[in-house]
Amino acid sequence: MSTTDSPEDAAFRAEAREWLTAQLEGPFAHVRFRGGPGEEEDAFEERVVWEKAMGAAGWTGISWPKEYGGRAATLSQQVIFYQEYARAGGPGRVGHIGEGLVAPTILAFGSEEQKQRFLPGIKNGTELWCQGYSEPAAGSDLANVQTRARLEGDEWVIDGQKVWTSLARTAGWCFVICKTEPDAPRYRNLSFLLVKMDQPGVTIKPIIQLTGTSEFNEVFFDGARAPAENVVGGAGNGWKVAMGLLAFERGASTLGQQIGFENEFKEILEAAKANGKASDPIMRQKLAQAWIELQLVRLNAVTNLEEGTTRPGLAAVNKICWATWHRHAGELAMEVMGADAEICAAPPYELTRFQNRFLFSRSDTIYGGTNEIQRNIIAEQALGLPREPRP
Ligand SMILES: Cc1cc2nc3c(=O)[nH]c(=O)nc-3n(C[C@H](O)[C@H](O)[C@H](O)COP(=O)(O)OP(=O)(O)OC[C@H]3O[C@@H](n4cnc5c(N)ncnc54)[C@H](O)[C@@H]3O)c2cc1C
Repeated sequence: MSTTDSPEDAAFRAEAREWLTAQLEGPFAHVRFRGGPGEEEDAFEERVVWEKAMGAAGWTGISWPKEYGGRAATLSQQVIFYQEYARAGGPGRVGHIGEGLVAPTILAFGSEEQKQRFLPGIKNGTELWCQGYSEPAAGSDLANVQTRARLEGDEWVIDGQKVWTSLARTAGWCFVICKTEPDAPRYRNLSFLLVKMDQPGVTIKPIIQLTGTSEFNEVFFDGARAPAENVVGGAGNGWKVAMGLLAFERGASTLGQQIGFENEFKEILEAAKANGKASDPIMRQKLAQAWIELQLVRLNAVTNLEEGTTRPGLAAVNKICWATWHRHAGELAMEVMGADAEICAAPPYELTRFQNRFLFSRSDTIYGGTNEIQRNIIAEQALGLPREPRP
């Protein structure tokens, strides 16, 4: 990808920068740099208002086709938008699961009716989503999900339990992987259902995390219902759809997050300069090394976007690179803080930003597929090594 904008891209950048600067230095100055992983409760309501403002101005779903309210933005324009968003201090998006995961999945696998029903709510920020994949016995081994759904008349009736469901308490909708074809073989027995959260058969129990907050939750389905037409890609095709969504999760949707890492690195750097740690020869080496790796993470992300669908294993390389970098950055921030890093008030914790990120970033190499699982994917898909034994 060129480092110089084409005339069209330069015009796009100027338009994005103008809007973001006007908003984030004007009416939305109070949400700058707020929210994000580990800080999901920070200014949540204000960030919902921001999400709606972005939608109204045409800055959500920019990659979608124009007939569904998007801008049909090219890859380079998506990169530009994420760059400008990070530069302007745009807050953590409350709608990222909808925009980044379920919307591309519905666009790729959904019916026309599903596109018409669900894309507008994602675009205008009125319907937030959560991801109902993991279960107590189905994390890395996702195909082992035990949540079941059966058709009763014109509705699916759903029973089972999900776990680690991020943002379930604020989401209006959940995409649920469940068994619908009990007699079919593994991988052909699942469906991808779109389920309303606010209904009698759904119970949500928050899980308190290291950070003291509860980004994720247990979700129990006891006779929850969804209209028969809310199955994406057809009954029994849930595995294919679920894998398609994971490709989006490990692809374009991580780009904004990685460009946001630039802001985090700058904060670490400024802190090191301010407290004198930057003069320590070992720390200087570590800061320089972290910056080198950040450049590689960024280049890797762009390469993944350009070639990830055609070069097996590249998306897994990308996931390992950014997740591992971010975890190391959390550790580096602690080192920069020195002894202060180990001090915080008793629960409920009042963590500093660096402490919060350090603790939350431990999860980066777990969610979206662990590093070990990514290495298995690389071994099998990129290197042609023998498949690992399956039960
Ligand atoms: C912050 C956070 C947010 C999350 N949000 C969501 C969400 O919104 N929705 C959702 O559905 N899930 C979510 N998850 C769950 C996440 O997808 C799972 O934690 C992840 O897939 C791992 O599954 P597990 O926790 O069951 O661990 P397990 O699969 O039990 O793995 C335990 C350990 O064994 C290793 N392991 C397992 N199998 C293999 C193998 N075949 N080869 C080598 N090593 C292996 C793993 O790498 C890991 O180290 C979230 C997790 C976190 C941490």
